[in-house]
Amino acid sequence: MTDCIFCKIVRGEIPSLKIYEDEHTLALFDINPASEYHTLVITKKHYVNMFDIPEAESANLMRTIKKVVTLYERKLGLKDVNIINNSGAKAHQDVFHIHFHIVPRISADPLGSPWKRYPELRAKFAEMLERLK
Ligand code: 5GP
Ligand code: ZN
Repeated sequence: MTDCIFCKIVRGEIPSLKIYEDEHTLALFDINPASEYHTLVITKKHYVNMFDIPEAESANLMRTIKKVVTLYERKLGLKDVNIINNSGAKAHQDVFHIHFHIVPRISADPLGSPWKRYPELRAKFAEMLERLK
């Protein structure tokens, strides 16, 4: 897509710090990091998010995520990481080209737990399962 930031990165029109690249995917440092080594894994082709991406391409993304996490484990001794995808505006997706965040959790880093939990939703489990039939 012409105006997409991540497509521009793939085409080399915007500079980026690449960690890993293969035929289908690219891993690069996030420009506004939440922790040291915060990395984005993107597809080279433009897909909007998890609703849009074909299954095979989502597998390509996961393969690259695993490679990057293994690299950080080997080189940095990393043992804690969040792997996050935001799909859709209500899920706080800002760049509408699919990407996964790899956020290494190094001790004493400032990123908090992102989720509030709602145990009262347990009351809806049966109804929720019913809707999946
Ligand atoms: P989202 O909120 O869509 O899940 O995350 C988009 C991410 O893309 C943000 O963490 C933001 O910092 C990152 N980002 C936005 N523009 C650029 C850019 O030009 N280069 C890089 N490396 N990251 C970017
Ligand atoms: Zn794009």
